[in-house]
Amino acid sequence: MTTLLLLAALVPQQLLITTPRGQVSVPVMTERGAAVAAVLLTPALGLSASIDGSAVRVTLGGRAFLFTLGSPFVRCDSSTYPLVDAPYTARDTLFLPLQWLTDQVPRLFAGRYHWDPALARLDEVPPPVAPVASTVTAAPNPLTGLRLTHTIVVDPGHGGVDPGNPGLHFPRGLTEKDITLGIGRLLRAELVRRGLNVVLTRATDTLIDLADRPLFCHTSCDLFVSIHVNSMPAGRRQTKINGVETYFLSDAKTEDQKRVAQMENDALRFETATTIDGPLAFILRDLQLNEYLRESARLAELVQGRVAGIHPGENRGVQQGPFLVLAAARRPAILVEAGFATNQGDGAFLASSDGQRKIASAIADGIVAYLLEFERKLAVGTGGGAR
Ligand SMILES: [Zn+2]
Repeated sequence: MTTLLLLAALVPQQLLITTPRGQVSVPVMTERGAAVAAVLLTPALGLSASIDGSAVRVTLGGRAFLFTLGSPFVRCDSSTYPLVDAPYTARDTLFLPLQWLTDQVPRLFAGRYHWDPALARLDEVPPPVAPVASTVTAAPNPLTGLRLTHTIVVDPGHGGVDPGNPGLHFPRGLTEKDITLGIGRLLRAELVRRGLNVVLTRATDTLIDLADRPLFCHTSCDLFVSIHVNSMPAGRRQTKINGVETYFLSDAKTEDQKRVAQMENDALRFETATTIDGPLAFILRDLQLNEYLRESARLAELVQGRVAGIHPGENRGVQQGPFLVLAAARRPAILVEAGFATNQGDGAFLASSDGQRKIASAIADGIVAYLLEFERKLAVGTGGGAR
């Protein structure tokens, strides 16, 4: 990860950059006697920088800004613009005038970025979903109240040679992979009915590598939702434990959380050799620096609440675990453990078409609730965040 520092004559205590894919708060510090803001450059925010000699290339929102160290100008789309100060580097860190981000970026992107000096916030406004004239006054979806288009990646766990957990209480030789696919397809239908775009990581009984699943979450993707079925190892509690829990990516805190993460990451043994420690540890550190964890936790809370409301088993709450499938999504990402295949009541519910439909509908409701909150935060369309 690169760190970019922005020079400013007049800086707030901190900056906030918000995008449809998340937000980053930016601490302010003092450098060379002037106050500067430090921006963590995460690719998810569409901001990156590279330096070659004295040439500096900064990419933001898909456009390249070309700076030269020591020269108070920036080039963009073959035009040159003056800066209040020249960019420089110190201690492997690039310093740019804050004016570039707060003044030039909003102007050059013509409405796509908005700098709010009172809130010290740079907002990326999502691209219009319809012709601009109708977008401003776009009516909310009558079913959901949502105003923007959203794309959800739905990931039915396991598949193909990886059956997932066989459980004890699935009829007719069903395994976890069949249940997750059933719920995943129904979830797609429920989300489409609510006016959302959906990408399934698999629509058939096939195996997708864990590390490849998040790649379905492209730039237009808002959320990543993985669906699984829980199981207890043999022992006294095996058939007793029941209920639903929703995970977001973090370090496992309890033995139970470790067990579930280990079980789901176990699909790795069906794949080409991958070690979980190296890349996951790195991605986890990376993720902990940004806001996706908080967003994922909120999404998990809303989905868990809805699913627990219709589930015959216990409400086991929101959990945290180091899931490889969530690690690379770079979007709010959750994993729903929709019940225990080792429990009779849960097993029957999960295997029934009525149970799968109820679970899918509840997950869809939780997703819509999250997106409504998210749009309210962006104050989409109304300028005041009404609704
Ligand atoms: Zn699973």
